[in-house]
Amino acid sequence: MKYKALGKTGYEISVMGIGGIPIQRVGQEVAEQVIAAALELGVNFLDTARGYTDSEEKFGYALRGVRDRFVLATKTPARDAEGARRDLETSLRMLQTDSVELYQLHNVSTKAELEQALAPGGALEAILQAQQEGLVKHIGVTGHNDQILLKAVETGLFATVQAPVNAVERQFIPVFEAAKARGMGTIAMKPLAGGSFMHPQLALRQLLAEPLLDVIIPGVDSVEQMRQNAGLASDWQPLNDEERPLLEQEVADLGKGFCRRCEYCLPCPQGIKIPQVFILEGYATRYNLAEWAVGRYASLDSDASACAECGICESRCPYSLPIREMLKRAHKNLKP
Ligand code: SF4
Ligand code: SF4
Repeated sequence: MKYKALGKTGYEISVMGIGGIPIQRVGQEVAEQVIAAALELGVNFLDTARGYTDSEEKFGYALRGVRDRFVLATKTPARDAEGARRDLETSLRMLQTDSVELYQLHNVSTKAELEQALAPGGALEAILQAQQEGLVKHIGVTGHNDQILLKAVETGLFATVQAPVNAVERQFIPVFEAAKARGMGTIAMKPLAGGSFMHPQLALRQLLAEPLLDVIIPGVDSVEQMRQNAGLASDWQPLNDEERPLLEQEVADLGKGFCRRCEYCLPCPQGIKIPQVFILEGYATRYNLAEWAVGRYASLDSDASACAECGICESRCPYSLPIREMLKRAHKNLKP
């Protein structure tokens, strides 16, 4: 396995990590097998979140006795101090640990959210307090909006940044450049673009060549996947002349109708959280988390059927996506 320094945190982490979303759909036994395989293969970075239902709990059980061999990262969606503290305490309990190496503000997507989190009484205040108590070693930020994430990086308050990067999503490269210039750690989530690639191994190998990225964290829900991912990192080979065009063709195909979750289309006058609808659709159709995604979709204040077809979102989308049509398709997939 190849290792890199995670920014200035002092941790040497495997360039291939574990993303904690898909473990939700498998049993405890598999979580334990994945952790055992990770140990054997030298994978030592694991990223989960309070929002991933039982992911923390499963990993918490699986890590008993080997907790110290991992750099453990989790996240809170809370923007206020009270909520962040409550989430952290729950996460530590679920993960069966006294502290986490990295605690991240999860998916900060608007200026208002960032400002609230950093203001007095905001989430950061509680996390800094927890850091003083030794419950949190380092603080990071994650998101799907490049401009907001860039602002977060520029505050100089965070040790790491986590964003989607893959063969089709390149808009976060400037964020990672800014982070690297500050000595921050860089974590690439969604390296497989929500499971969209026909040649996932090529997509991962391409990312492993990026010097800007400290670690990539594809979701893992089987030992076989863990072995494949780790093998790509420990026996890394650059793409050859036959492989490169294959990936380029996929990028060209996907690029036409693929939501990058940049959120430029918002706000929708009908209150539809457009990218969230597409994320849930992806979970249902690509991650095999249909039941969970359908439940989350049903709990949205305003689902895709509320669309009044005004077209405002489409005029704002930098990728010129046919959002209205895509919402109709998503609604069919999520409200069968
Ligand atoms: S077209 Fe529909 S989804 Fe788009 S802004 Fe108008 S109401 Fe919202
Ligand atoms: S629909 Fe377009 S503007 Fe909205 S999040 Fe997706 S890519 Fe961005």
